[in-house]
Amino acid sequence: MFRNFKMVSRVVFGRGSFNQLDEILAVKRANSETVMVFLVDDVFESSALRERIPVKANDLLLWVKVDDEPKTKYVDELCRRVQKEMESVADSLPGGIIGIGGGSAMDLAKAVSLMLTNPGSSADYQGWDLIQKPALYHAGVPTLSGTGAEVSRTTVLTGPDKKLGINSDYTTFDQLVLDPELLDGAPTDQYFYTGMDCYIHCVESLTGTYLNSFSQTYGEKAIELCREVFLGDPPGRADKLRDDKLMMASYCGGMSIVYSQVGICHALSYGLSYILGLHHGIGNCVAFDYLEAYYPEGVREFRLMMSRHDIQLPRNLMADVNEAQLEKMIDVALVLEPLWENALGANWKQIMTRAKIKELYQRM
Ligand code: NAD
Ligand code: ZN
Repeated sequence: MFRNFKMVSRVVFGRGSFNQLDEILAVKRANSETVMVFLVDDVFESSALRERIPVKANDLLLWVKVDDEPKTKYVDELCRRVQKEMESVADSLPGGIIGIGGGSAMDLAKAVSLMLTNPGSSADYQGWDLIQKPALYHAGVPTLSGTGAEVSRTTVLTGPDKKLGINSDYTTFDQLVLDPELLDGAPTDQYFYTGMDCYIHCVESLTGTYLNSFSQTYGEKAIELCREVFLGDPPGRADKLRDDKLMMASYCGGMSIVYSQVGICHALSYGLSYILGLHHGIGNCVAFDYLEAYYPEGVREFRLMMSRHDIQLPRNLMADVNEAQLEKMIDVALVLEPLWENALGANWKQIMTRAKIKELYQRM
């Protein structure tokens, strides 16, 4: 069965395109009472961007915390806040949800747009195609590039017993505003880690058993752009065109994995994040550095990129991890069966044992 996947319906790209957000939302406002909910990474609370967010009198602007990656509990809490605010409004649902920030803020926006129309807790929907009703209109505005969250059909959430996305056709954004200027203030290390998420998406997609021409086309373009950004001379961020390229790399890298899958690095990174709270980008970098046996060329090039950008990864992460936590990390990684199958083929269970995963984690 071939995947008939849902793509983002509308995309605007370009430096300064954020200024068009007001106009884009105007057509989604049924009347002057329509409430738009902006979920914005709180890193922008005291930035110049704040004044540029097109918030109208009735709208709701919620600053979201992303110190921890999105949790189902936090999504439920945000939904309750929106619902409470909407009690006094005749039309009890907002006209749309707009997520502004990195992968975390965008995922929160996706999840809230789903959970305002579907009953229960977001934890009930972690998995594949469990969502029954369409989401509210939702738009994404990335301020970091690499995750591909802007194009994916998932919102990655940490729940009471697993880290797993709400994967559904309804999850995909209706609108994207891709404005490379918004990457300007991103801290250099974070820019690198999130950028490497894209690079690793490409390596895992391009070397995976699920590869097909669709994924390959996007993956090859994205990896080429990553090389221009992270191996270009001189290293650094003075050349602003690199932000444009990274934004498009993230988009294409995301499109590549939509029709294939990620692999071992992502599976291990989910375990790291579940127990140690490591964010996705840095968790991927930590894990990828130990995967030379599986992705020899990718890891070699990744190390070159790290040295070019003077990145020091955290080490000895397992020092305070007890046996039960280590076993839980392995469980979290193993839930992600399609990732292992993509990386190692149909008989991956014979190749990748719990003992091998444990050994990989213990080296980190
Ligand atoms: P992030 O959103 O977690 O943000 C990392 C840090 O950068 C935060 O402190 C944030 O405040 C800050 N930041 C973001 N933009 C900034 C800017 N322009 N200037 C200054 N600071 C800025 O980072 P990320 O790597 O983009 O996203 C990781 C998240 O994305 C994880 O929660 C992960 O699970 C999720 N993810 C989702 C998908 C998907 O398909 N839905 C794919 C991969 C990862
Ligand atoms: Zn990723």
